[in-house]
Amino acid sequence: MEVIQLLHWTPYAVPALVATLLCLGTLPWVWRRRASPGGLAYVGLLICLTTWAGLEVVGAAVLAPEAKLLLARIQFLGVATTPVAFLIFALSYNGWQAWLRRPWAGLLFAIPLVTIAFVLTDDLHGLVWSEISGQRAELPLVVITRGPWFPVHTVYSYALVAGSVLLTLWRLVHAPHHRTQLACVATAPAIVLAFNAAYLSGRNPLGDLDPTPLSFAIGAAILGFALFRYRLFDVVPVARTTLFDAMADAVIVIDEQARVADLNTSARALVQGESKVIGSSVRDLVPGVDALLALGEDDERRELRIKTADQTRVFEARVALLAAPTAGRLLVLRDVSARKQAEEALFAVQEELRRANQELERLANTDELTGLASRRSFSLRLEEEVERARRHNHMLGLLLVDADHFKDVNDTHGHAIGDRVLSDIADVIRDIVRRTDVAARLGGEEFVVLLPETDPAGVQVLADRLRIGVASRPFLDARGEPFEVTVSIGAAARASRGESAATLLARADAALYRAKDAGRNCVVWAEVG
Ligand code: GH3
Ligand code: MG
Ligand code: MG
Repeated sequence: MEVIQLLHWTPYAVPALVATLLCLGTLPWVWRRRASPGGLAYVGLLICLTTWAGLEVVGAAVLAPEAKLLLARIQFLGVATTPVAFLIFALSYNGWQAWLRRPWAGLLFAIPLVTIAFVLTDDLHGLVWSEISGQRAELPLVVITRGPWFPVHTVYSYALVAGSVLLTLWRLVHAPHHRTQLACVATAPAIVLAFNAAYLSGRNPLGDLDPTPLSFAIGAAILGFALFRYRLFDVVPVARTTLFDAMADAVIVIDEQARVADLNTSARALVQGESKVIGSSVRDLVPGVDALLALGEDDERRELRIKTADQTRVFEARVALLAAPTAGRLLVLRDVSARKQAEEALFAVQEELRRANQELERLANTDELTGLASRRSFSLRLEEEVERARRHNHMLGLLLVDADHFKDVNDTHGHAIGDRVLSDIADVIRDIVRRTDVAARLGGEEFVVLLPETDPAGVQVLADRLRIGVASRPFLDARGEPFEVTVSIGAAARASRGESAATLLARADAALYRAKDAGRNCVVWAEVG
């Protein structure tokens, strides 16, 4: 029963009650996001506002005038600190939190602390309230005359709240993104200012009632809207600007006429020689960008080479269209010089390897002494040609050529002269055979010539030419004296459609033996079957 006599219900408490509930309702949500820029400052702001608005509610509800006065005094803990909290929030949300770490930042609380001290001791000097009215039960404390300190408190509070609005507006003008969030952050304190100004100037729509808590209710609602609808703390404008500048890629914002509207730190470093960048044509700054811009396609990539002071760097350039209605574009330049260098080095190594392989293959397929095809290469060609002749039923001739008494040549003239003779015999063979024929050194002083699409008569003609060509050639000894060398030749022609390379070769070999037996320096045909 006692309590009912002390408290009563009054509709004048509603605005402050709404403000209190809004603040208390938002607090847990913001607390979880206190690590985000401005998050902790917003928690502080909510605590100040809750103190102010909550005690306003209680002040309206209590009946005893002394209790109303006491509550009004305690309420100043929130009243005096709220503007500072607003400014701290605006600074940290907008990315100027570094200011708050300066030593003089603590001075922001000097006047609020003096105000609180004066309010608590007001009975002694009346610096804040010089006269208090006869209390009306439905209202919180009503002050008739304000003391000399009150304007100091008011002007200071106005200055801080107005400062928060201006700071946010400045950001709003300079940041193209998150306009709605920033507008909300600026509007909330602006509304508080407007209501408070109306109250203090005597044009209060609520009559005797201080409309400030109501203004805070509206301000808190707007901030709450920004918090929930636009995720105020999830992506803050500052994060975007910071990211833009922290990007390793050079980003240039260009307008419809391809003039530079903005650029990040990396892009600035790239065009450092240019004094006036903003407003100049991107074509002058980034050579070769024309073709890319002409494409007009979103996400088209091109490689650009840009000369800087000490080197030529390679960039992967991309143009992204900005969302309508801006008609602007983003030119993103990614430095791929290192990758390009690595690619080029790799390509050079691959090329070297390819050449080495080619050389290795050439060596494997060539006889070192004579430059004719090697035995390995000849074996492959023989199989191929036998198969081809079988498929098209073409003729195929084969000559086995062996130097006569070559051991004697070595014995008489020495191994070096022997080598030269082998090389000279190879020259004779090379001069006589056709381009389609395959001449090879099988080993030692033995050569072979494969004659595709050649009938036995043709084979005979070639064999005679070879034999006579060698026999009539003057080979020179170490003293330059000429001596003769002859060759014996075993000739064979493909006997049947199904004859294998091995039997063809074996028949020619047998013919060669018979040529040796027949007295050498002659051509002997292989037997069929
Ligand atoms: P034939 O008329 O019966 O063929 O008698 P030949 O002496 O030519 O035959 P033989 O097979 O007995 O000897 C071949 C000689 O060829 C033996 C070797 O000294 C010589 N010879 C083999 N390869 C080379 C070479 O690369 N260079 C030189 N200078 N001589 C070689
Ligand atoms: Mg021989
Ligand atoms: Mg031999």
